[in-house]
Amino acid sequence: MQMNKNGQTVLERRYLIKDEHGQNIETVEGLFRRVADAIAGADTLFDKKADVRALSDQFYDLMTNLEFLPNSPTLMNAGRPLGQLSACFVLPIEDSMEEIFETVKNAALIHKSGGGTGFSFSRLRSAGSTVKTTGGVASGPVSFMRVFNMATEAVKQGGTRRGANMGILRVDHPDILDFIDCKKNNADITNFNISVGITEDFMKAVELGIDYDLVDPHTKEVVGQLSAKEVFDKIVEAAWRNGEPGIIFLDRLNRDNVVPSQGEIESTNPCGEQPLLPFESCNLGSINLCQMLKETDGGWELDYDKLDRTVGLAIHFLDNVIEVNKYPLPIIDEVTKSTRKIGLGVMGFADMLARLGLSYNSDEGVEVGEKVMDFITTRAKAYSQELAKTRGAFPLFAESIFKDEAPLRNATCTTIAPTGTLSIIAGCSSGVEPVFAYVFIRNVMDNTEMIEVNPILRETLEKRGLYSDELMRKIAKEGTLAHIDEIPEDIKKVFVCSHDISPTYHVKMQAAFQRHTDNAVSKTVNFTHDATTLDVREVYMLAYRLDCKGVTIYRDGSRDSQVLNIGSVK
Ligand code: ADP
Repeated sequence: MQMNKNGQTVLERRYLIKDEHGQNIETVEGLFRRVADAIAGADTLFDKKADVRALSDQFYDLMTNLEFLPNSPTLMNAGRPLGQLSACFVLPIEDSMEEIFETVKNAALIHKSGGGTGFSFSRLRSAGSTVKTTGGVASGPVSFMRVFNMATEAVKQGGTRRGANMGILRVDHPDILDFIDCKKNNADITNFNISVGITEDFMKAVELGIDYDLVDPHTKEVVGQLSAKEVFDKIVEAAWRNGEPGIIFLDRLNRDNVVPSQGEIESTNPCGEQPLLPFESCNLGSINLCQMLKETDGGWELDYDKLDRTVGLAIHFLDNVIEVNKYPLPIIDEVTKSTRKIGLGVMGFADMLARLGLSYNSDEGVEVGEKVMDFITTRAKAYSQELAKTRGAFPLFAESIFKDEAPLRNATCTTIAPTGTLSIIAGCSSGVEPVFAYVFIRNVMDNTEMIEVNPILRETLEKRGLYSDELMRKIAKEGTLAHIDEIPEDIKKVFVCSHDISPTYHVKMQAAFQRHTDNAVSKTVNFTHDATTLDVREVYMLAYRLDCKGVTIYRDGSRDSQVLNIGSVK
């Protein structure tokens, strides 16, 4: 296997099976064989004579060649007693003590198994309204978010992952102003990402500069009005301050709700890329685009035949995951299997662009993104239709918006995940994000430095005789290649990192992928520290105009502790 040291370390620390003393009793190859066997085994449910061994070999090669990886819970749990394989869940929160705490319990069970949960708090009555049975006063959505947050905190100690949540509140909920500021303090509600659920009516009111209605979630009566522009500015200001809340466009999620008979989509999973119905779960998987290239006399190009074969195997893989998955609750099993949503996406996109000699922040780069994702989604649908011929369509197909087309096995096929851990395992750039930094200096034991250089940059500089440790230290310190005189312009142009790219290009790329993705796109728009609230506002409006399903921003240095830093030791 061609896995690098970081990938190896992540698997050894967190993914390989351990004995009771914490020692690994599985090898990396053993992990991929365990996963391949467990997932290939599902074929016998449809064909008793299926050649499971041959399929397992194909899945094994797919993963060990780092061409495709399923989401973390599948790597951790497939072929093991827990057997929970999905990354994403959405749970409903109804407005009663019993139901709220039932959902707290269910979320805890999901976190324990490595899944993330999203919730809409919009059905909860607002703070200060009356509680009938006690005559007391309701504490409102934000106070219950704190309860969910504490439960997540406690479960994190014993689980496989630290637990992640998405909390959503509709912009017309009476408590919206409290919600917008609920993470003002960086130490608050840390196990949640939050997003305001925006409606088209609200956006129109923002554009017209008029007031909009606040609606009581119970009676549906209008209970107040706020200036849409002021609320929008408050959201923007809070996001400028420390990155939250993000926004999601609820009406767009529901425009693409493929089975409207099942109710409304109110929430996404924690990182925003997967809108789901209440009690639905989804398993994701990502193709490493760096491994989909071939070298020709004229340079590197995308190998569409290989990409096509990979999409075919990946769709087969993800559909099998739905069968062998052990769901945390019977209702999740039932709802998930009624639509059979899967989310195939990509990672290594920025690395691929560098190989192709294209800049992320160019119209050509955006066009390539659009073309690759169009191909993947078109082929994914075709393979899902192929599977439907032998396995049947998803059970709610006749109620879906596809009912007049060829039967589909899966109600959705594609999603762009963040691939936070998967991209480390595969050693490539994450999801469709630009490269954050091309060079890191790591302090390892006994004070020695280890220089980590993006392999494509290293190769490019070596070829031109420009590579030196000294230059790498300079890049690491600066964080970007942009202002280093020794580096030729053509290299600077291609090896752009997150902070060299204008927010506009971040959004343009997100929009290009969104146009060809069934679900949504996980993407953070990076701002420099000195960006203004006006800059953030423009990006929120641009995401709206370019038909994104949501937007998340981060301004450098706006939290004391941030996941990624440039110009410093990782
Ligand atoms: P990975 O690379 O580990 O497969 P991603 O970074 O692509 O995961 O995240 C995909 C989804 O997995 C997230 O949107 C979320 O639903 C879930 N997830 C990610 N990290 C966590 C976590 N620490 N705990 C629970 N769920 C998580």
